[in-house]
Amino acid sequence: MMKQEQVMKFKKLFEDQKAALLYSYKFINEDFTIQTDEMSDEVDLTCAEMEQGMKMRLRSREALFLKKINEALEKIQAGTFGVCECCDQTIETSRLEVRPTANLCLSCKEEEEQREHRSADGRKSKSMGLKPSLRIA
Ligand SMILES: [Zn+2]
Repeated sequence: MMKQEQVMKFKKLFEDQKAALLYSYKFINEDFTIQTDEMSDEVDLTCAEMEQGMKMRLRSREALFLKKINEALEKIQAGTFGVCECCDQTIETSRLEVRPTANLCLSCKEEEEQREHRSADGRKSKSMGLKPSLRIA
């Protein structure tokens, strides 16, 4: 189990990140409206469309990050923060310091990445990947 003191440190970090994110989120949305109003001719339209696409991607990334922060804050509330969702072991503190929203411990994450890699690789490596000897210990 993680020390309460450490949990509080992460809680503060998440609250700060959330506040910063909500601020920039608001800023992007406001900027968005100005862009649409200022569109005049064809050239500007293309340019504005490109910018809109970029901003929308940025927004969806931020929305995902915000979702992760909210989930982490919920876990802190529930007392399950820093516990691996897969194996119920405590996630390494060093890992949480690099990636505070991590919900898997390092070995489970590696396994997940291997699985993703295998499915992306297609069928040919499927049977090979199932051999335990090929797993990262
Ligand atoms: Zn795990």
